[in-house]
Amino acid sequence: MNRRDLIKKVALAGILTAVPFSEFYGAEKEKEKEVKDNFSGFQKVKMGDLTIYILSDGYLREDDIKTYAPKADAKELKNLLKANFRPADHIDMAINVPLVQTRDRLILFDSGMGIFADERTGFLQKSLSKAGFARKDITDVFISHAHIDHIGGLIDKNDALVYPNAVYHISKREFDFWMNAEESDFTSSYLINEPKKIQFLVQGAQKVLKVIESKTTFFDFSSTLYSYFSFESAQGHTPGMTMISVQVAGKKLTYIADLSHSDVLLFSHPEWGFFADTDIQMAARSRRDISGQLAENGNLALGYHLPWPGLGNVAKAEENFRWIPYPVYRPGEIEL
Ligand SMILES: [Zn+2]
Repeated sequence: MNRRDLIKKVALAGILTAVPFSEFYGAEKEKEKEVKDNFSGFQKVKMGDLTIYILSDGYLREDDIKTYAPKADAKELKNLLKANFRPADHIDMAINVPLVQTRDRLILFDSGMGIFADERTGFLQKSLSKAGFARKDITDVFISHAHIDHIGGLIDKNDALVYPNAVYHISKREFDFWMNAEESDFTSSYLINEPKKIQFLVQGAQKVLKVIESKTTFFDFSSTLYSYFSFESAQGHTPGMTMISVQVAGKKLTYIADLSHSDVLLFSHPEWGFFADTDIQMAARSRRDISGQLAENGNLALGYHLPWPGLGNVAKAEENFRWIPYPVYRPGEIEL
């Protein structure tokens, strides 16, 4: 490593230490990593001739509920949590990482917190091996967007690829945005008043994207990939956030990624927004429009942060929507 690279690296390490992700999400600061295991595990799902493993990376906790949905009235938000029998002093979010096995591909959708993990997260590797796979088996990674809880698991502490044989797929718009992002690109976000958090997100994204760049290809939104997969823009949460649909045997499952971070708050109030939305209004519009489409077509959805394992349907409710978890009647494999 030359001197300039070293300085860059030290500077980045500095910023990452200055603003740990646990603080970014408002979790308890610098708590000892007491929990060694175990939030790892997987849910096996059969869909036609495909097998889907939903892998757990653990879960995130947001202690500052006021900033979580910044456009919500604080009292109304608390009441809605209470009405759903949820704690009103924090909000938990799952990290459900889909892995799809076709005849000749093994495709990971996003990658968990990885190098940015706190004591509640970073369990993806364990979950992958529990499901019976090794890192080298992964042929492709579909990246919904470049927030650190989605790409942090792609590289290790030495900047080496965690999935050495994989091809990485992301929207070109998303890739270009983060590689060139500046503070002024966040004027439509609630992050604009938190320059340290913006810096943390941008530098974290660039750190990972630079390592995978030479093995990265861009989503083609107009065609089907590997016979089963199609891609659709859901911009707003980030400029290039992409949903991935899996279609087989007359069934369709749409991975909605971070369209909604809460099952009880943001389907009924898409307009409340999420503090890390890059464009809070555009994100709300996408949340509302796509929820409407899912309610209309009845396709099953899978949310990255929705309660484990994140499978369910979106239904119309009053003027907006509600999340209906997929009914599971027994432990073991689910057949969709
Ligand atoms: Zn996320």
